[in-house]
Amino acid sequence: MSTSLDHVLISRSPLVDPAPVVVDSPHSGTDYPPDFSYICDLQSLRQAEDTHVDRLVADAPSCGAWWLAALFPRSYIDPNRSVSDMDPGLLDGLWPEAEVFRERAQLGQGLIRSIGRPGEPVYGRKLKLNEVRHRVAHYYQPYHEALTALVDEVRARFGVVYLLDCHSMPSLGQPADPEGEGPGADFVLGDRDGTTCAGDFTALVEETLTARGYSVARNDPYKGVEIVRRYGKPHRNRHALQLEINRALYMNERTFEKTPGFESLQADLTHLIATLCTFARSG
Ligand SMILES: [Zn+2]
Repeated sequence: MSTSLDHVLISRSPLVDPAPVVVDSPHSGTDYPPDFSYICDLQSLRQAEDTHVDRLVADAPSCGAWWLAALFPRSYIDPNRSVSDMDPGLLDGLWPEAEVFRERAQLGQGLIRSIGRPGEPVYGRKLKLNEVRHRVAHYYQPYHEALTALVDEVRARFGVVYLLDCHSMPSLGQPADPEGEGPGADFVLGDRDGTTCAGDFTALVEETLTARGYSVARNDPYKGVEIVRRYGKPHRNRHALQLEINRALYMNERTFEKTPGFESLQADLTHLIATLCTFARSG
């Protein structure tokens, strides 16, 4: 079954014997809403996308997993941030939820992105509170409502749920230093230092990828943000792991085009999800 929610998201159910596995891609959307009104170069804004990640893991339903992807760009509003992770300087009023500690907003990468390339502001004006409220109500919340419904349904039906939250990372640079060194690995697994899932889930993903010849790091430089934090409650049999995929494996990072490596990586990720489904069914 395929369902779409306006221009917000698309989801698919398992096509074979279901397993308690949900695969989501919150950052691969490329439908730029007409009211975005950014002033920076679109190419620099697109650097924030996890382009093609939805397609890399699109065979999840054929393995027995649920699949969910956002259609809107994360630079418009980011489902992998908390509503409090907001730069107050972006707004023409007070954001009641804003916290003193803003995990990513201080880097220009909060709920609403403020920086394209380093030093290049996304907007030439302050955003109205109502604009941001609209983005929360019509994009951010529906994504989380859909993901919550899936995770809750699977957990109720099977007694356990495994969420694989899929992203991509630039081959060069890191969040705090966009022009510095790259992540130094093909994949980075983020379980917020072992707090968002059982260790055997992280170990299974690491071993499966390593056996296919990839280099895998844990929690450095990406430990997972809002989605694994919100959905990962291992003591309640809710396990969430963030998977960061190095873009150099499958795309030209300047033109956004797929490279010949895309197909073999896609096959390896399908193998990973099938392996995870087998593990989850037996658990
Ligand atoms: Zn991402």
